[in-house]
Amino acid sequence: MFESLSEKLESAFKQIKGEGRITELNIAATVKDIRRALVDADVNYKIAKEFTDKIRETALGQKVINAVSPGQLMVKIVKDELVDLMGGTESTFNTKGNPAIILIAGLQGSGKTTFSGKLANFLKTKKGLSPLLVAADIYRPAAIDQLKVLGEQIGIDVYSEPENKDAVAIATNAIKEARSKNKNVLIIDTAGRLAVDEAMMTEVANIKSAVSPNEILFVVDSMTGQDAVNTAKAFNDRLDFSGVVLTKLDGDTRGGAALSIKYTVNKPIKFVSSGEKMDTLDVFYPERMAQRILG
Ligand code: GDP
Repeated sequence: MFESLSEKLESAFKQIKGEGRITELNIAATVKDIRRALVDADVNYKIAKEFTDKIRETALGQKVINAVSPGQLMVKIVKDELVDLMGGTESTFNTKGNPAIILIAGLQGSGKTTFSGKLANFLKTKKGLSPLLVAADIYRPAAIDQLKVLGEQIGIDVYSEPENKDAVAIATNAIKEARSKNKNVLIIDTAGRLAVDEAMMTEVANIKSAVSPNEILFVVDSMTGQDAVNTAKAFNDRLDFSGVVLTKLDGDTRGGAALSIKYTVNKPIKFVSSGEKMDTLDVFYPERMAQRILG
């Protein structure tokens, strides 16, 4: 994950690691290399510039500290800023309610259905909850089957109404079903389109108004870089979602989405998904991710 970014950052630190002290000159060179590494990872230029301006300022402000080497100091400053850029501390995830309602939204192919299954599995095995999956994609019958296959794999019931073309009604009926079956968390997998479109946004917004979700998670393919960030903005403007799920981190992803989304929409990344198997889901910890990026 993010190998190229990690390599480029490592090489950005190479020169300053050999220096005896921090100077404006060696800071400037390092900062320039860091900025280029971020832009190459598909981080928007404005974000990369602001990020490196902060690093320069902090490094210059700490010039006098002699206890640590310039290299160590720079790595520490960059790590702290990376953590900050990705949201600082671990975010919360609200599963209180009868049932708690989690609404899943995103473009088709982003990994929504796979994530819905993984989240149900996670909440069941790690949190001891009893989830009910809801197939609210009324356009693709295959999406219902896909969710049912996943549900069977992980031993979780799937609620669907194949003949019903009203996604809002399916979602509200599912709440009753959950109560009657003693399920305490509802995960609603909604329809996606290949691009952001008005009808899809209206439908998800209507489901949101009807069910008042505890969490609305926006699922996005991390391989799509700056497009991921633009899509996040469009969904957030309309849905005011509570968190982001980055998928396909096991692929050849450059890192831009992970680094830019929080900055752009001011919503935390809550989960990262890295594979097709049901147990490849992790809670997102900015600190751990920054550590991984810096190697
Ligand atoms: P949806 O249209 O948003 O519901 O997307 P799907 O859940 O159907 O996922 C689209 C494709 O991406 C499927 O082939 C999934 O198996 C695959 N996929 C989903 N999440 C991941 C992931 O984290 N890693 C990898 N490698 N593939 C994934």
